[in-house]
Amino acid sequence: MNHLSSETFDENAKAALADAQLRGALRNATSLFGKRRLEAARGLDNWEDLRTYARAIKDEVLLHLDRYLETFVANAEQRGAVVHWANDGAEANTIICKLALDRGARTIVKSKSMTTEETHLNDALEAAGMQVVETDLGEYIIQLAHETPSHIIAPAIHKTKGQIAELFTETLGMPPTDDVAQLTSTARATLRDRFAAADMGISGVNFAIAESGTIVIVENEGNIRLTTSLPRVHVAVMGIEKVIPRFANLDVFLKLLPRSGTGQRLTTYQSFITGTKRNPQDEGPEELHIVILDNGRSRMLAHPVTRQSLACIRCGACLNACPVYQQVGGHAYGSVYPGPIGAVITPQLMGIEKTAQLPYASSLCGACREVCPVKIDIPRLLLHLRSEIAASKTNGNTTERLAFKMWARVMMSPALYNLGATAGRIVQKVMPLSKAWTSGRDLRPIEPQSFRSLWKTKLSHE
Ligand code: SF4
Repeated sequence: MNHLSSETFDENAKAALADAQLRGALRNATSLFGKRRLEAARGLDNWEDLRTYARAIKDEVLLHLDRYLETFVANAEQRGAVVHWANDGAEANTIICKLALDRGARTIVKSKSMTTEETHLNDALEAAGMQVVETDLGEYIIQLAHETPSHIIAPAIHKTKGQIAELFTETLGMPPTDDVAQLTSTARATLRDRFAAADMGISGVNFAIAESGTIVIVENEGNIRLTTSLPRVHVAVMGIEKVIPRFANLDVFLKLLPRSGTGQRLTTYQSFITGTKRNPQDEGPEELHIVILDNGRSRMLAHPVTRQSLACIRCGACLNACPVYQQVGGHAYGSVYPGPIGAVITPQLMGIEKTAQLPYASSLCGACREVCPVKIDIPRLLLHLRSEIAASKTNGNTTERLAFKMWARVMMSPALYNLGATAGRIVQKVMPLSKAWTSGRDLRPIEPQSFRSLWKTKLSHE
């Protein structure tokens, strides 16, 4: 089990740094994803234009989100979907549990959905007596291991091939092997039976097209197609930010998302689901329920700085590029959303009281901003959150605030600055530097003579 808390990021990170196997797995996976992303981006000569265009679409949607959501809902309902609004995770879980209970569902297949991870839907369904089976290979692995995802698009990125082989031997009774093809075919065979027996399928949503009420889901394994079409009932769960205006807008996102995530030109499958099946002989569910979740997103939308957090298309590129994530992995963040975007979203979803360490889990190097396909200025968002934390009464450290006030005063006055520098030189002679400060960073001592006095001395010698 690895249910770590965001409140203890510093300790979680220290423990992760001591885990050589974890760091090796992260190094291999993030550098491979990063290399593939770069090659894929270079393969398009209008990459920067695509990023700008995608961001412009997202900005337009976020400015008029109420209008686009209403259009999406009206069109989805017209085509037979039933739309449910959920203010928070608990409400979303209650809606979905009731849907399952009312239909006598016992077995539920689920395809990868970060939104349902955010609401802890599996726990709620299991508490209501249902068996939930994750069908994405990565999610299935971590479900067997009773762990949580450690990456937005590669939930089991922290596991080595050997660890997965051991897990399959223990839980599925598979003879020991580290042959990847054999591991995947064992998982596939087990999951096929679950699809056939499932009463309900639950999926996430990558894009919701307002003009037609269509939901779009991209994937590589084919499990989403089975999850959304084999069971009689399909429940799709989406955050309010997933809507885009038109089909024509999809082109740019389908170019950016797979290239940024895995370096693919296109994912293997793209499912377009518009309402329920029309005729008995058609493929698809008899019932389609779309649960639209807020869970703190309206708060992000209301502020002009934090609004851009909602432009995220969950590609995971910022995680792969982040020097902090590369070293500590996803579990250290104690949130379903790790890495740079997680350090931005989690405090806004869960409140800064319990997540105050996350916005500081960054060197502000800007690598996340460089790779983000929708040009989210993550360092700016992190600084914004840091200033909120510093200003908040609950987290504000009075001594620190006083020290920075004094620092500002001194920096604005040459006389006070000189006085401070002289006092600093005396103090550093009699007091050693704090070990807590210098154990992880350098702090150069104050020079014995200031630049001003050196300058003056030089002038007097000329
Ligand atoms: S913030 Fe940008 S790079 Fe990070 S997951 Fe979201 S879209 Fe991808």
